[in-house]
Amino acid sequence: MILSVLRQCKDTLLNFLYPLRCQGCRRYLPASPVEHVCPDCRDILYKSISKVCVVCCKEAPENASVPFTCKTCATRKKPELIFLHAGLYTGLLKDLIKTMKYVPRQFITDTLGEYLCTFIDKQNIDMSLYACILPVPLSRVRMRERGFNQAECIAHYMHRRYTIPVNTSVLKRKNHRHPQASLNRKERLTNVATVFSAKKDPSLEGASVILLDDVRSTGSTLYYCAQTLFSMGVKHVLALTVAFNK
Ligand SMILES: [Zn+2]
Ligand SMILES: [Zn+2]
Repeated sequence: MILSVLRQCKDTLLNFLYPLRCQGCRRYLPASPVEHVCPDCRDILYKSISKVCVVCCKEAPENASVPFTCKTCATRKKPELIFLHAGLYTGLLKDLIKTMKYVPRQFITDTLGEYLCTFIDKQNIDMSLYACILPVPLSRVRMRERGFNQAECIAHYMHRRYTIPVNTSVLKRKNHRHPQASLNRKERLTNVATVFSAKKDPSLEGASVILLDDVRSTGSTLYYCAQTLFSMGVKHVLALTVAFNK
C-alpha cells in the first residue's frame, strides 16, 4: 500500500517535470494520466481486439456468441495448454510494450493491463475457473538489471480487476548460462527447456492456471514453463499474452 502510494507520487512528479505525450500521436497528456494513450489512439488500439476462438485464437465471426469455440476445436478434447493473445505485436501495441520494458511507470502497465482485460471480457473468459496467475519469471540477474518484471505488473493489474491471486513463488527461472542471442534455434530451445523450475505447491495439483507474459513469439518460453507446471500436477494452463509476434 505505502509502496504503491510512493510510486504514484514519483510518477506524478516525473510527469510534472517531463510532461507526457501520447505514445501514439505525441499529443500532450494530462499531468496524471490514467493511460499512456490519448482517447483517439486508445480507440484505434482497442479496435485491434477481435473476437476469437478461446482455444486456438482464430478469428470468430462477428455475430458469434461468446465464449466462442470454432468447429475444429469443438470436436476435440480440450488441450491441456492453450495459447491466447489479445493483439498482434505491431504498431502502437508494440511501441507500448517496448516502452514499458524501459520505463516502468504505472500508467503504461495499466494501459496494457486494461487492454488485456478488455480482451478477456470481450471473449467472456470465466476467470473464476483459474486458481491463480503465474507471471513468467525473470532470472535474478535480469530482475536486478531491470528492477521489475513487466509480466508481474500486468498480473497485478488483472488481480485488481478479477481478484484472482498472483503467484510469484512457484515458478523460478535460473540464470541463463549462455545468452540466447549467441545460440542457434535448437540450442535456444534446449537452453529454455532447462531454465525453469517449480516449487511444489499442493494447492495447484489438478488446478487450471493462467501463465502470463507480455509477448509470445515462438512460444517456447511459455511451453517450457507450462511443462514445468504440468510436472508438479497442474492440469490446465492458459498461456496468455498481451501480444503475439508472428
Ligand atoms: Zn494519441
Ligand atoms: Zn479453435
